[in-house]
Amino acid sequence: MQRFDGRVAVITGGASGIGLATARRLASEGAKVVIGDVDAVAGKAAADEVGGEFIAADVSDEAQVEALFQTTVDKFGTLDVAFNNAGISPPEDDSILTTGIDAWRRVQEINLTSVYLCCKYAIPHMQRQGKGSIVNTASFVAVMGAATSQISYTASKGGVLAMTRELGVQFAREGIRVNALCPGPVNTPLLQELFAKDPERAARRLVHVPLGRFAEPSEIAAAVAFLASDDASFITASQFLVDGGISGAY
Ligand code: NAD
Repeated sequence: MQRFDGRVAVITGGASGIGLATARRLASEGAKVVIGDVDAVAGKAAADEVGGEFIAADVSDEAQVEALFQTTVDKFGTLDVAFNNAGISPPEDDSILTTGIDAWRRVQEINLTSVYLCCKYAIPHMQRQGKGSIVNTASFVAVMGAATSQISYTASKGGVLAMTRELGVQFAREGIRVNALCPGPVNTPLLQELFAKDPERAARRLVHVPLGRFAEPSEIAAAVAFLASDDASFITASQFLVDGGISGAY
């Protein structure tokens, strides 16, 4: 018996990075995985690899998010896990003095409004079942300030963390757990893209990681699998830091 036997998990941003690693991990533990992503080519390849399903979805589009969860339930009959994870890196210079309103809005739409929409359309299915586990991807910068200016990103992730706490409390008595995953820097295309724009940033970041390296996506996926599973049955409304010790360092 595996932890996710007979369970259905929707993963947004499952075509790459943390989402892809989690798709692999949950599928390896028995889950039927549904990947929602804007990247149809990589998303379909990921779904094929894990024996799952790909549904094209832009997480900032309300109708597409509603359809992602409804189609999943129509097809597989249940929604046990929603890993609301799709997100983008901040603009090149994300200082409050230089970030324009359009760039700010785009980061909020894809990193924060998306989580609002995914929770809004996942929760009613879980209410009907009387159970479910939601994991929202925030970041360690939601808990502490970033060492490099990234105001739109930090604010979006702070919003994800605050929303997660409130939803975790609101739906606890209905058997729905809602937790925020707060990764430190993870070796994914998102991070590589950020560091390609500013190579010195990687070195500066590394100084702050007591474990002395960035995480691999599979290490984050292991934490998501835990939070999403019944092993975490008494954990809700929490911030779950997987940050190599960053938040404990001075
Ligand atoms: P990634 O770029 O490897 O993957 C992100 C995925 O999201 C891609 O498949 C992309 O196509 C998808 N996506 C982007 N916009 C979308 C949209 N509008 N609708 C649907 N899908 C969309 O990134 P990652 O590093 O795996 O990041 C995943 C999450 O983890 C993000 O929310 C990110 O902010 C967060 N995070 C990452 C790190 C890190 O260091 N990599 C650290 C903390 C938090």
